[in-house]
Amino acid sequence: MALSKLARDFAREINNHDWQDAPYRRDRAGHDRASDTNHDDRVLSAQETDAVRTNVMWVTAQVLGYHDPNFDVYEFAEACGVDTRTRRGDRDGSIRAGVREQYGRYMRPGTWEFDPEFITTETSDFYHSGVDCPLFQRGYRGGDLLTFPLDSQVPTRWKRCACVAERQG
Ligand SMILES: [Zn+2]
Repeated sequence: MALSKLARDFAREINNHDWQDAPYRRDRAGHDRASDTNHDDRVLSAQETDAVRTNVMWVTAQVLGYHDPNFDVYEFAEACGVDTRTRRGDRDGSIRAGVREQYGRYMRPGTWEFDPEFITTETSDFYHSGVDCPLFQRGYRGGDLLTFPLDSQVPTRWKRCACVAERQG
């Protein structure tokens, strides 16, 4: 799955920025220490620089993931220049753990909440009021979440779970 143009552009800008003196100076976008004649001598270690870059990647990823259901945080992180592998070469799970996401759905930026909407999957028989429904969790077979606005008509191939009526009270 290709990154959106917006995600690619954020990644380019994050990857292009020299983060090693980020806490010490306001360096503007596209800062490069090598061509900066006015830099002082304080620099972060490689590990600290990586932490700054990774945090910038995560906050940006939260917004991009919220707006794009096809967003892939690993693809984005790599494009930002963040190492997504563990020392053994496996995919580093901490990359995904850095965004507020569940079943591929991202929390609304600036909050710890998912937008209220009906959810289901291709292989489900029912649609639910949210991923916290135990029947959804028990029946989840992997795959992308399908979502529908609360004021929309969910296609009839999915039956309404009891959790929907409970939520509507
Ligand atoms: Zn349910």
